[in-house]
Amino acid sequence: MCHVRANAPNFYRLLLRIDQDYADQTREQGCRCGGVLHSARYPRKPRGVSCEARCHCDFRHSFCCAGCRRRTTPFSVRFLGRRVYVGAIMVTVSATRASAGSAAAMRQLDALGVPPATIARWRKWWTTDFVSTPFWTLGQAAFMPPIDTGLAPVSLLERFVATRPPEPLLCLLLWLAPLTSASAMGAVSEGR
Ligand SMILES: [Zn+2]
Repeated sequence: MCHVRANAPNFYRLLLRIDQDYADQTREQGCRCGGVLHSARYPRKPRGVSCEARCHCDFRHSFCCAGCRRRTTPFSVRFLGRRVYVGAIMVTVSATRASAGSAAAMRQLDALGVPPATIARWRKWWTTDFVSTPFWTLGQAAFMPPIDTGLAPVSLLERFVATRPPEPLLCLLLWLAPLTSASAMGAVSEGR
């Protein structure tokens, strides 16, 4: 489905541009206290990303208020929580395992080297933690017929194929972005 995109440098370049837009908006809005936000990025060393793509995901945007010192971390399409894998890989690996993908797709996933225990934790996150978030409680009404959450995220990706071709993985990451900011409702539990 989208296993190739999950490691293409151009895809991560695009995700970085989107994250930069989120960061610009956050900085313009400023802190809740009215203070000015200064950049205070988190360095990241995500696993499973190719050498060519790594430079597009080696930090996460974040800000610190000059007044109250509170952290504000914008939405992200690159990082779904603090996991050591980027969101695109977490989604793609979870989706392919859930749908028992083609032999070629499975080989590509094996090449990413995600441990089986990690994949099992991600599967559990989708079927228990994710569906417990206010984000999903409110957001599920947008899908008709209802999503089979037992098959998430592949059941979610399928809806984005139907409604907004040609990049379901990107559409799903954009849709999930509110979950990636601690200041947003129902921010993700980590599930590393
Ligand atoms: Zn402040």
